[in-house]
Amino acid sequence: MSEPWSRRSVLKLGAAAAVTFWVRRASGETAPFALPPLPWEENALAPTISAQTISFHYGKHHRAYVENLNKLVAGTEFADLPLERVVQQTVGKPEKVAIFNNAAQAWNHTFYWRSLSPKGGGKPTGKLLEQIEQDFGGFDQFRAKFAQAAVGQFGSGWAWLVKSSGRLEILATPNADTPITMGKTPLLTIDVWEHAYYLDYQNRRGDYVNAVIDKLLNWEFATQQFTSA
Ligand code: ZN
Repeated sequence: MSEPWSRRSVLKLGAAAAVTFWVRRASGETAPFALPPLPWEENALAPTISAQTISFHYGKHHRAYVENLNKLVAGTEFADLPLERVVQQTVGKPEKVAIFNNAAQAWNHTFYWRSLSPKGGGKPTGKLLEQIEQDFGGFDQFRAKFAQAAVGQFGSGWAWLVKSSGRLEILATPNADTPITMGKTPLLTIDVWEHAYYLDYQNRRGDYVNAVIDKLLNWEFATQQFTSA
């Protein structure tokens, strides 16, 4: 079993190195899987996302996915695999659907927390901005299409900005589905399960999505994902 990632690591490594370090650790851990610490305090995203929402979303929902997964993989061939491999090896197998759902949701939520920052929003810069302009026709066009994907996902799911074969794409996935089973590299995600926004926005998913895009999207993290893909 590996050591849990700690805030002390952040202080030692610096913020940028810590993100890289965290991503490696997140993809290298085997069962029992740990609930990774949030990259900011629970109240850091307020008022866009309240501390109460984060407390339930992280402390109850995300924790439950991790705990359920640990129970489900104990003593199976999945116990010695990193989380990403568990997701990739159970996708599309009806007899493994419970493992897939909990593993994918554990992975997706950890990625979602990294996709948000109290200093987020605005636009990326440099090569990522250039690629967005090239692939979507401009940042505003990207923004509109990303919001549309998130708002338009019927029922529970996720909206993603991904890199695939050198191009950027926007995807919406239902339930626990995730681009890491599709050979695509996620750069950012927005959780559109009702548990992500209902306490703060009730049924107004569009208000939540627009506020997250404008105020919280972590373009620094996206740039790191883009550069390493
Ligand atoms: Zn969620």
